[in-house]
Amino acid sequence: MRIAEWKEKVESHGCYDAVSEILERIEKSKLNAYITVCKDDALKMAEKYDRGELKGRLAGIPVAVKDNISTKGILTTCASKMLSDYKPVFDAHVVERLKAEGAIIIGKANMDEFAMGTTTETSYYGVVRNPYDLDRVAGGSSGGSAAVIAANEAVLSLGSDTGGSIRCPASFCGIYGLKPTYGLVSRYGLIPYANSLEQIGPMADSIDDLALLLEVIAGKDRRDSTNSGKEFKFVPKDRKLKVGVIAEMGGNEDVMKRFSEAVEVIREKHEVKEVSMPSFKYALAAYYIIAMSEASSNLARYDGVRYGYALEKLDSWRRYFSKVRAEGFGDEVKRRIMLGSYALSAGYYGKYYLKAQKVRTLVIRDFNKVFEEFDVLISPTMPSLPFKIGELADPLTMYKADVNTVPINLAGLPALSVPIGFERGLPVGLQVIGNYFSENTLLNFGKWLGERM
Ligand code: GLN
Repeated sequence: MRIAEWKEKVESHGCYDAVSEILERIEKSKLNAYITVCKDDALKMAEKYDRGELKGRLAGIPVAVKDNISTKGILTTCASKMLSDYKPVFDAHVVERLKAEGAIIIGKANMDEFAMGTTTETSYYGVVRNPYDLDRVAGGSSGGSAAVIAANEAVLSLGSDTGGSIRCPASFCGIYGLKPTYGLVSRYGLIPYANSLEQIGPMADSIDDLALLLEVIAGKDRRDSTNSGKEFKFVPKDRKLKVGVIAEMGGNEDVMKRFSEAVEVIREKHEVKEVSMPSFKYALAAYYIIAMSEASSNLARYDGVRYGYALEKLDSWRRYFSKVRAEGFGDEVKRRIMLGSYALSAGYYGKYYLKAQKVRTLVIRDFNKVFEEFDVLISPTMPSLPFKIGELADPLTMYKADVNTVPINLAGLPALSVPIGFERGLPVGLQVIGNYFSENTLLNFGKWLGERM
């Protein structure tokens, strides 16, 4: 549902009734998109809106927040048993901004455990189902954040994207999702998986709504040392662009059919040319080494002492930590901690981690070179239609699904997934990649294309 439709509803029925209707829909839902629903608080806020006491650019609008983004006093589990009773004592920067603009936080969205996955099947709380086919996944890791938009269980949502986690579910659920330039949105209060790769970003049913949410969450924050301090303002602009189709990024027959149709539409107005990015064949391997290395270091904080999952009895500290982690983490998270620790260990550091960082530099150089000539680059967001639940049986097959999205995170660039219609009744997304801080170009292009598909 778009903000404009929501506002009409609120105008005719009042915010309290409109929010109640969403809460009822969530209660009956089969999607499993929320881990926590903030029913009482949401209704209180709606009453406040109806009394004219809620002001701001998002006043009275229900927003879902991914469950790895800290919300003061509200469960923030990262979809892990490890944090299943964790209530942060502070708000993430983006949550402070939402509240300052009068948004109603309707709930915390389901996701892969610690954002490690592409389907939400690693969630301790179970998989999120695709609104277009309940036997299929909604994508991951921000699957809940995408499904709630497609199923009218929220109007806007926040996700996080380390290697595709906003764009993949946006594509699988037929909505818009943006991974902003690294440093545009503060990561303060985002529970980290791989700090050098991830950004919080907006998800919505239209570009105008997405742009408004980005305007609210982007901007200066001293508490994230990688924050650029830049603000964002959407300026509608209509111009002819030079569009590069990335040769190394493809998809299966269904996806390519829809993608080729989109390319034909783009050709009617813009200049389209194929580009080659030779370093991309190493990008997936480099991404997983870097992401797992950072994860192994980040997740060392979960020791069952200060917060999170704990045991009743303590015999020796060493056994205590091991047992807490053995019981608190799921298989995929454990796999990544082990592989990441291995890649960082003395003797293997040069062979894996350092080499991956060198590939990262090559990827950045490839992008820099093509952006001298092109305004935007395009590819299918995902190489296939939404997977059947259980279809990706082994981890490597799952990692391979990220082939089109991870190079963007290695380079820290912005990328948008635009819904371009359906194939076999399932949504397909097109990825638009831009140069650093070119979100305006991406959103203008995405709006133009989305309206035509
Ligand atoms: N699927 C990727 C991974 O598991 C990306 C996840 C993400 O962007 N958080 O690492």
